[in-house]
Amino acid sequence: MIHSTPDSLQRIARTPCYVLERDKLIANLKLLESVQRESGAKILLALKGYAFWRCFEEVRGSLSGSTASGLYEARLGYEEIGGREQGKEVCVFSPAYKEIDSLLPYATHIIFNSFAQWQRFKPTIDTHNATNPARYISLGLRVNPLYSEVTPEIYNPCAPSSRLGIIPSEFAKGVQEFGLEGIDGLHFHTHCEQNADALQRTLPHFIKHFGRYLEGRKWVNFGGGHHITRADYDVNLLISLVRDFKARYDMEVFLEPGEAVGWQVGFLIGEVIDIVQNQGQIAILDVSASAHMPDCLEMPYRPSVCKLSGGIIESDKGEGVGTYHYRFGGPTCLAGDVIGDFSFETPLNVGDRVIFEDMLHYTIVKNNTFNGVPLPSLGVIQNGAFHTLKEFDYFDYKQRN
Ligand SMILES: *Cc1c(COP(=O)(O)O)cnc(C)c1O
Repeated sequence: MIHSTPDSLQRIARTPCYVLERDKLIANLKLLESVQRESGAKILLALKGYAFWRCFEEVRGSLSGSTASGLYEARLGYEEIGGREQGKEVCVFSPAYKEIDSLLPYATHIIFNSFAQWQRFKPTIDTHNATNPARYISLGLRVNPLYSEVTPEIYNPCAPSSRLGIIPSEFAKGVQEFGLEGIDGLHFHTHCEQNADALQRTLPHFIKHFGRYLEGRKWVNFGGGHHITRADYDVNLLISLVRDFKARYDMEVFLEPGEAVGWQVGFLIGEVIDIVQNQGQIAILDVSASAHMPDCLEMPYRPSVCKLSGGIIESDKGEGVGTYHYRFGGPTCLAGDVIGDFSFETPLNVGDRVIFEDMLHYTIVKNNTFNGVPLPSLGVIQNGAFHTLKEFDYFDYKQRN
């Protein structure tokens, strides 16, 4: 549930706007901090899922660094969370690097998706490490343990013919040809919105296929997708899994959640522009599923919604349950730009505000200006007061085309 009062929601000057509720972010970070402390794992923020750097102060204070998928994320993590100079990690994994030089100033760890990529960039990194021992970059390989419980398939890195992670047979061939000297760690990322029991069932597969290669390694990265801050997450199980692993293999363990950091820390607020009729009432909003909440179409899922009419906040009663039923659609010309069907006990009016809960992760990072739809502005509620952090305009659209 949103913590905000109708008054503070009304004070948000311009919609659409993504609003971070800072106290919720801080609560997530406190929990993650305690997991680090109790388990001994280092937790890195995966910027892919949550990159709201304008409020990274507490992230910097709590987490051990960032995880990046390439140069831009690595640089953002370095600039806004910190690099080795601040005692922070910047861990980079990309399915394939076109070049590596630009990463060298930022990365503390570089993970390759194939032996060929490692061999291609090994001379460059060996030279870097020999000439900058204080800025040593640790290398790793991403593996595919052939086990993942993730659905749908678009999010499953172990789906048939997946390009993500080296499969055991290819790994064995690579070791035979190139050895593993210079590889400090292994990485797997096979989870998505999962509880610790999924990790518990995954680890034996990782050990079965890759345990024999752990001798001589310094770290293992368990990837992201651990839904640590979700209310029902079994934090104690995660802590004991990490502890047991560390005790058995005596190495550093990394976790790199994105979603768990930005989980339920804020909302997207929009407005009803018009209501049209076609086999029911259809509200056209200034927020778009396609441009602002793409996972509603991709995953797909139905977001938690409430509306603000006449100073009263009312939550959606569930599809077809309440008295007044509305389909919510976006302002683009895409026929499928439909957010879902929602119901209330009081009518919805043009000019009312609508609030989509938990819209800070995997939204802003995926925004686009399709159809010339404006980018939502960014704001924060802290100490009960709303502040605008950034507004976008026509030029943000023009420059992308
Ligand atoms: C996406 C991704 C993450 C973060 O996943 P979440 O589901 O947001 O926790 C971490 N590591 C890698 C390699 C990823 O691709």
